[in-house]
Amino acid sequence: MAGIWTMGELLVEIMRPKAGMELSETGTFLGPYPSGAPAIFIDTAARLGHTAGIIGGVGRDDFGRCLLKRLQADGVNVRFVEEVTGGSTAVAFVTYFEDGERNFIFHIDGTPAVLARFPGDGLEEELKDAPPGFFHVMGCSLMANDRFRKELFKAVDFFHHRGTRISFDPNIRPELLGSQDVTEVTEPVLKHSAVLLPGVTEIKLLSGQGTVEKALETLFDNPVLQTVVLKRGKAGATVYTRHETVDIAAYPVDEVDPTGAGDCFDAGFLCGLLEGKSLHECGQIAAAAGALNASAFGPMEGRISPETLRKTISP
Ligand code: ATP
Ligand code: MG
Repeated sequence: MAGIWTMGELLVEIMRPKAGMELSETGTFLGPYPSGAPAIFIDTAARLGHTAGIIGGVGRDDFGRCLLKRLQADGVNVRFVEEVTGGSTAVAFVTYFEDGERNFIFHIDGTPAVLARFPGDGLEEELKDAPPGFFHVMGCSLMANDRFRKELFKAVDFFHHRGTRISFDPNIRPELLGSQDVTEVTEPVLKHSAVLLPGVTEIKLLSGQGTVEKALETLFDNPVLQTVVLKRGKAGATVYTRHETVDIAAYPVDEVDPTGAGDCFDAGFLCGLLEGKSLHECGQIAAAAGALNASAFGPMEGRISPETLRKTISP
């Protein structure tokens, strides 16, 4: 089965143990939890039985080992994750509030997470017998710094020109975007994307349109784009193609930690596509992966496997 690759930040998350604890106050944290949207995404694809690989970097330290151990245990190819000497693994601190809002402090720029170079020839050799079905980009990876963004653009061009479909989750984090222009940051990926998986605010930002309908019209002007999956948290998701609209209900779970739900959802959806499933089935796999992840504390601690997904979809 054709595999999935991604390139982006690997980081550990350090979390407040319960809602309402400001990051400005002295208090308890839990962690390290393996995290980073691209890492959560690719680990899910591997747990669902697909060939999966990530390009990135960690420090040669215990947080880096925590990440590599987890990804390897789940079957992710980490040959192109560089262990950098002289830099510490990236970290995000996170807290939640009772109303569901969350607050992050990121230590990513200047860390090995965004020092990785696109491996070019080495990767060519690795993939020569089995070009992947998808190369997935997380928008947050484009926002850390200019140099890493350019490396990611190289990766997108490399895969696109070899017939691998590009999938893109804009995953815009205002804390990372700062004053950068959204279009400049996203356009080189968007123009090659066959599958786009935004939230409602993101689809408007990407298209420069004020409504979802107008945004879809603008985005589908791009002939490369085949599928848009609009994610709405516990309110579910909708899959759009030029010919079809398919609503995907969310599976009811007690939400413990919504971080990573969207990343697991993306992986579930693409795995479904690679397995030749219908759009509705792809949406169900995706929603089940998102729900399972949201019901566990920690960014990628949901008990996701082909079997738990089946049980969630048909109890
Ligand atoms: P983020 O803002 O974190 O990037 P996202 O837009 O990538 O979020 P969400 O919309 O939060 O992703 O979640 C994706 C999918 O996961 C939803 O469409 C839904 O199917 C599932 N999901 C997320 N949160 C929950 C929840 N609390 N209960 C059930 N399912 C959920
Ligand atoms: Mg997301």
